[in-house]
Amino acid sequence: MQYFPPGGQLQEKTMNPKKAVIIGAGLGGLSAGIHLRNAGYAVEIYEKNAHVGGRLNVLRAEGFSFDLGPSILTLPHIFERLFTGAGKQMADYVKMQSLPVHWRNFFEDGNVIEFDRDRQQMELNNPSLAADDFRQLDNFLAYSRKLYAAADCGYFRHGLENLWQVIRCHGPLAALRDFDAFSVMNDGTRRHIRHVQLGNAINFFVKYVGSSAYQAPAILNLLPHVQFHYGLWYTEGGLIKLAEGLHRLATDIGVRIETNAEAVQLRHAGHRIDSVILKDGRVIAGDVIISNLEVIPTYVRLLGEDRRFLKPLDKFEPACSGLVIDIGSRKQYPMLAHHNFFFSNDPKKHFRQVFKEYKLPDDPTVYVVAVTRTDKSQAPAGCENIKILPHIPYIQDRPYTREDYLELRERVLLKLERMGLAGLRQNTVVEHMWTPDDIQKTYGSHRGAIYGVVSDWRKNLGFKAPRKSGKYANLYFVGGSVNPGGGMPMVVLSGELAAARIIHELQ
Ligand SMILES: Cc1cc2nc3c(=O)[nH]c(=O)nc-3n(C[C@H](O)[C@H](O)[C@H](O)COP(=O)(O)OP(=O)(O)OC[C@H]3O[C@@H](n4cnc5c(N)ncnc54)[C@H](O)[C@@H]3O)c2cc1C
Repeated sequence: MQYFPPGGQLQEKTMNPKKAVIIGAGLGGLSAGIHLRNAGYAVEIYEKNAHVGGRLNVLRAEGFSFDLGPSILTLPHIFERLFTGAGKQMADYVKMQSLPVHWRNFFEDGNVIEFDRDRQQMELNNPSLAADDFRQLDNFLAYSRKLYAAADCGYFRHGLENLWQVIRCHGPLAALRDFDAFSVMNDGTRRHIRHVQLGNAINFFVKYVGSSAYQAPAILNLLPHVQFHYGLWYTEGGLIKLAEGLHRLATDIGVRIETNAEAVQLRHAGHRIDSVILKDGRVIAGDVIISNLEVIPTYVRLLGEDRRFLKPLDKFEPACSGLVIDIGSRKQYPMLAHHNFFFSNDPKKHFRQVFKEYKLPDDPTVYVVAVTRTDKSQAPAGCENIKILPHIPYIQDRPYTREDYLELRERVLLKLERMGLAGLRQNTVVEHMWTPDDIQKTYGSHRGAIYGVVSDWRKNLGFKAPRKSGKYANLYFVGGSVNPGGGMPMVVLSGELAAARIIHELQ
């Protein structure tokens, strides 16, 4: 079996530069492009939108600056490798800041549980948790650390892509034991933590992958270790600065990026893609083609593959979508931390409605970001920049209407007002709302999913699609629909692993 370790191989410069053509300048495409360029490849990226960064996107209105996409940043060392590989310092491009308060979790009975960077601070800030609860949390975090170590040594570092590779790498018994293979996340949580609300808050780390704690495999319980050990980060000036920094790095090292350049077809001769056809009719040839568009949309829209070909990909069901509400408020809400969760009264029902029944939830758990807690530049003086994101089903065969989404918006805002954000609607200066249809239209994501492929024990054991096409010899994929999956650090890692494999195969 071939492994493709990040690092090492990527440093090699090829004598005879090969050309990589990348469709899409999201984090996955940028990562693959930068790593390949660092190894001496000629790289061209064609992006359909006017901006670079994909879901890292910004809306500026009335003095507010709204990050329309991601807001929680973890594992900065994965981003750092893009810069060090090019002989640059990340700090010269992006200013990263570690947040002392990770999340504040609000519950309907008025209780609040805060996750902090500093353990002593966390004990001081959580009078509702007893010494025994902290002991259980410590036990849980030791379990989480072991899960992370298991995933890191093969799945992350060597780019393992399926159960058989994991079993061959770890050995059958270790694979089952180290991955807590017969449990879902909620089982692992409740085995360690008796405090119901603390367990609910821990379960919601599944937010990072847009899945359900009752369906995602227990290996995803590595996520709390990721956050508590490696920290939770912000890029000064908004997350859009990460995209801008990577754009500048790519340009500095000679990656050619063209925006407003949509790919409409991949032309192939047998099982090799020979060129990418752009909307304006240009034909772009390359030795390797990398699609940052998700796997299923690539096969359907750019290659016209039929249902029979696509059937085996059904297990790679989309992760959830979201209703993205950005509010500029003239009133400030000091109760909010930078990141907050307002919990459903019945979190299990919330997960069931979104991930099993595919319904808009009656009482969702709502993620709320108040970025001005850290960065005053994101709103006019005295105002609050509030991003509200309930997870909701991806676009169904019978899609929800805008009216359905507006009803959900009202339920969400009423819930937030009831739980402490009094007068939120009356104090709104500017509001922007994005539905799954907008997300699909803007980024071309499969059914409006925001994190690529869902992590589901029964459907896919948490694995995503492979980074290399099984049909076309020189077609590779990066981004949230392939291993190791969605979320910013993971899509950047997917780009690094795809680049390592290409370098290995083409040398
Ligand atoms: C609202 C929201 C909140 C999120 N919150 C978080 C968070 O807090 N933390 C976190 O880590 N992650 C979060 N995520 C997920 C994270 O944003 C994604 O996992 C990641 O940015 C995806 O990167 P990507 O490169 O895979 O895809 P994308 O960013 O979608 O990039 C794909 C690119 O391809 C382009 N493209 C598509 N079709 C074509 C075509 N035919 N021709 C040319 N170009 C094309 C698209 O325009 C896009 O620029 C969030 C996402 C959303 C939407």
